[in-house]
Amino acid sequence: MKYRTIEIPSSSPRTKASVLIIYAGGTIGMIRDGSDSLIPVNFNQILQQLPALDSLEVAITVISFPNPVDSSEMDVQSWKEIAGLIFDHYDQYDGFIVLQGTDTMAYTASALSYMLENLSKPVVLTGAQLPISAIRSDARPNLISAIEIAVMKMNGISVVPEVCIYFDYRLLRGNRTSKIRSSRFNAFESENYPTLAEVGIQIDFNIPAIIRREPGVGIRLNHKLDPNVVILKIFPSITKQVVDAILETKGLKGVVLETYGSGNAPTYPWFIESLQAACKKGIIFYNVSQCLGGKVIHGRYSTSKLLDEIGVISGRDITTEAAVTKLMFVLGNTGDLKTIKNHLSGPICGEMDAG
Ligand code: ASP
Repeated sequence: MKYRTIEIPSSSPRTKASVLIIYAGGTIGMIRDGSDSLIPVNFNQILQQLPALDSLEVAITVISFPNPVDSSEMDVQSWKEIAGLIFDHYDQYDGFIVLQGTDTMAYTASALSYMLENLSKPVVLTGAQLPISAIRSDARPNLISAIEIAVMKMNGISVVPEVCIYFDYRLLRGNRTSKIRSSRFNAFESENYPTLAEVGIQIDFNIPAIIRREPGVGIRLNHKLDPNVVILKIFPSITKQVVDAILETKGLKGVVLETYGSGNAPTYPWFIESLQAACKKGIIFYNVSQCLGGKVIHGRYSTSKLLDEIGVISGRDITTEAAVTKLMFVLGNTGDLKTIKNHLSGPICGEMDAG
């Protein structure tokens, strides 16, 4: 891909930190086209709205996707590009910002958290609900605080060595976050994991909640992802035709089964038989609750017992976004059933509770 690079040297003589911004698109940089729909534009137009950026004590490099997109267009290939850019420039910067649309930000954050193994520097995703050119836009505070967090260190060590989402004055663990609001500035929630930092007059970090890394272990890029997965969301009166059509999808390897409450599903014989037949063919089922808060507990109700018996794996308190990308990651790295089950049953990088 032919990226565009922009250097924004700091005008402050006290500059010690550096950050790499990867700009993929999203509302933050959108304008209205002739038919009044929002379309992404290049980073120069964002810069025009941020003349003060060079007064931060941070040297900034921006690498822009050649064609910034609405995040609905992003996919496994986009995540590979972003992860590759971070890996290739890892030693040159104190921290990294990914600017993209909010719609699929939680998927990107989750995917990056698995792909960037042993990450010891911050990767902060942010964007905006209103374009930066709008007078009430949230773009400016989101971007400026994200940059400050990305370069923050304590005793020479990054304060937040993980992939996170910064939005509306809160820093959240990326693979614990879901977009739950499309028309308010507080677009994201992390129902099952505490906020990593609150931003007010000062930035208050929740240090015990932030990942701690073993010093001296180098970063590793693992970009093997298998997209042959699906989300099967159950609902009352779901039909056998629908379930079977999904489970018979050619090449399908993994299913995020979105169940009710604490992991419950109907016990109709046809439903269990269809799932069992798919399990026998080697399709992996990962049970995730449709509820944002709380977790899957197999056996709590008899309606989840059968799922456990046929080999469905509990995703406990994982989000759908983290589960889909985790399935892609685990299935992309191994075909061994025991290893797959092991990886899915526990956290890889803080995306679910350890049980
Ligand atoms: N549709 C936009 C996107 O995800 C929404 C946003 O940026 O907030 O690219």
